[in-house]
Amino acid sequence: MRRFRACLWFCFVVLLSSPLVAPAGGDGIAERAKKLHFSSIVLDTHDDTTQRFFSTDFDIAKRNADGSIDIPRMREGGMNAIFFSIWIDGRIMGPPAVQKALDQIDAVHENVRRNSKDMAFCRTADDVRRAHAQGKIAALMGVEGGHMIGNDIRVLRIFGDLGVRYMTLSHFYNDEWADSSTDKPAHNGLTDYGKEIVREMNRQGIMVDISHVSDKTFYDALEISKAPLIASHSSCRALCNHVRDMSDDMIKALAAKGGVIQINYEMSFIDQAYKDASDKLSGGVVAMIDRLRKECGDNEDCMGKKMAEMQKQAVAEGKLPHVSWERIIDHIDHAVKLVGSDHVGLGSDFDGASMPEGMEDASKLPKITEALMRKGYSDDDIRKILGGNLLRVMEQNEKVSREMQTQ
Ligand SMILES: [Zn+2]
Repeated sequence: MRRFRACLWFCFVVLLSSPLVAPAGGDGIAERAKKLHFSSIVLDTHDDTTQRFFSTDFDIAKRNADGSIDIPRMREGGMNAIFFSIWIDGRIMGPPAVQKALDQIDAVHENVRRNSKDMAFCRTADDVRRAHAQGKIAALMGVEGGHMIGNDIRVLRIFGDLGVRYMTLSHFYNDEWADSSTDKPAHNGLTDYGKEIVREMNRQGIMVDISHVSDKTFYDALEISKAPLIASHSSCRALCNHVRDMSDDMIKALAAKGGVIQINYEMSFIDQAYKDASDKLSGGVVAMIDRLRKECGDNEDCMGKKMAEMQKQAVAEGKLPHVSWERIIDHIDHAVKLVGSDHVGLGSDFDGASMPEGMEDASKLPKITEALMRKGYSDDDIRKILGGNLLRVMEQNEKVSREMQTQ
């Protein structure tokens, strides 16, 4: 009996230390997820880091104490493809808008050139894959707002030549030819010139981005475009009723034509309680920006910092609820359940929005892969969401462009 008991004890100890028993809290998923994440192309379609290039105390090559994006934190989080957003306030129009957009396009090129050991400027899906194979971060550009072409279709072509690979048809305000979701309708969607611009974007291989636009502009663009559309940074309206998000019907229509919704992490786009409290506090996003603009003028870095301070203080005072990064997963999962894993991706809005707790910067991205794996997503589906879907849409846009060029 004693011997039997000793044996039992021994066997128990052996069993505990045996590799057949998973380590504490472990089912091997954390390790598998890490492997998958760091071997994938992890592509983010919307980062406002470009604004920081104009600040003397920012260096993308160094780890920064604030903001969300720099090379060290991208490396740490396995983010290896980024669309730098070219953005200026939507009320600046005409030649000044074009000039400021060109300043930013140049700043992206210069920053990539200065860091060519780590980054490669990319214009095609193949370029992105090549950069990945070389261990470099693929750098791409998107213009966030049609107002930056100065109401001149020729400027769009110049932007295309300079490497711009998507354009958001409007920003927070209507532009000369497209209605925004956060402005009073002025054009009933896209004007005839707006439709011509969408066709020209197809011809140039510049993806049509419908984040920010009114629902009617979205449906007009969907009808006109020969290539699949993207929503570069939008979330699901079914989970958070914000006009900046897409309704289920819109997501279904986008997917039916091969497009992809890139989920935005901004708290007021992903969490209803936060959105409601934030609206009560600030009167909505546009009113808040108006107020800050008076304090900061043209200085976008000041705008970003002030917004982050205000948000932090309001959470500390209990005026805004805490939001967990896991809400991002809820939005990805909702969209996948609605239209399948081929039509969902990541468009964080890092450096341009208020991030939920646990997703403060690019270094936190592996959590997304692990959370999806824990939900039972296949490796294949996760890779598509991390970047594969966007590359497919990019390739389809490239194909349409080639066909239209020879017509
Ligand atoms: Zn935006």
